[in-house]
Amino acid sequence: MQAVRFVGVGRPAQIEDVPEPTPSPGQVLIRIGGAGVCHSDLHVMEEDMGFTPPFTLGHENAGWVSAVGEGVVGFKEGDAVAVYGPWGCGYCHACQLSMENYCENWAQLNGFGGGLGLDGGMAHYMLVPSARLLVPLGDLSPAKAAPLSDAALTPYHAIKRALPHLNADSTVVVIGVGGLGHMAIQLLRVLAPVRIVAADVDDKKLQQAKALGADDIVNNRNTAEAAERIQKIAGPRGAGLVLDCIGVDPTVDLGAKLLGRNSVWTIVGLGGGRHEFRHGSTPYGTVMSIPYWGSRVELMEVIAMARNGRIHAETTEFPLTDAVDVYARLKAGQITGRAVLIPA
Ligand SMILES: [Zn+2]
Ligand SMILES: [Zn+2]
Repeated sequence: MQAVRFVGVGRPAQIEDVPEPTPSPGQVLIRIGGAGVCHSDLHVMEEDMGFTPPFTLGHENAGWVSAVGEGVVGFKEGDAVAVYGPWGCGYCHACQLSMENYCENWAQLNGFGGGLGLDGGMAHYMLVPSARLLVPLGDLSPAKAAPLSDAALTPYHAIKRALPHLNADSTVVVIGVGGLGHMAIQLLRVLAPVRIVAADVDDKKLQQAKALGADDIVNNRNTAEAAERIQKIAGPRGAGLVLDCIGVDPTVDLGAKLLGRNSVWTIVGLGGGRHEFRHGSTPYGTVMSIPYWGSRVELMEVIAMARNGRIHAETTEFPLTDAVDVYARLKAGQITGRAVLIPA
């Protein structure tokens, strides 16, 4: 079968022929219906994140159960499922709480999950090590559901952690209206009675943000001007939550200018931007957070919201064999919403 492979840091992804896997006891083979193309993959290919090549990329996956290994119960051939992405040990305290994203034994694991150190879903088939990592989709299409497993789950987890700090008079600033940001806006609309300000450097993405429920949109190509505009919108109270889906120096600088007292500053983007966190540099009471992905139960909640029509991923579908070009377009900022690869 064809697969999109990570072949080394500093090298683009490659389409290669790899053997079709067969499930061992406890494992489940998924026929991929869609694999989301995430900006994190660019970080995997361009920086050394400690992953050993080669492996198949794709950590936002959904499809149909194709075969189950011995002893697997609860799933049968043909079931539509999303694959929960962060694969933990399965038995530590965090994993027992379904928060495999915070597995305590992460240092002993071979990789973070399929597509992140281990073979992922940018292929015709994907091997999932345990049925506990599958969430049923019901009548939701795998191609539409695939991005939910990261692009929706990650902001959902981040927003849920911030909810106790928010109220009806809060302003929430979402920086970056890409795969995660366009879901974050919808999730905030559903979860909290807040004023949502979306910031991006691309006016087309800002229009999408508006259509998805943002109250205000601000182009942040010029950080100082954007800060002034958003400060005016938020008023003296400042932002109650800044959700930075980019995390580069300019967006971190922007966020620092927007926070109110007793606010939450959540950086989910892997941009590596820096801020000096100390008395005097940051408003009193600010909680700073770098959450990672989300729990399996939260993925069930995200899937439920999508099935009920409360949220949806805005997707553009491409054939699997276009992967290299799609990554280039993602890097150039030419993808709106989420690109999803479909095996032919
Ligand atoms: Zn991702
Ligand atoms: Zn664990």
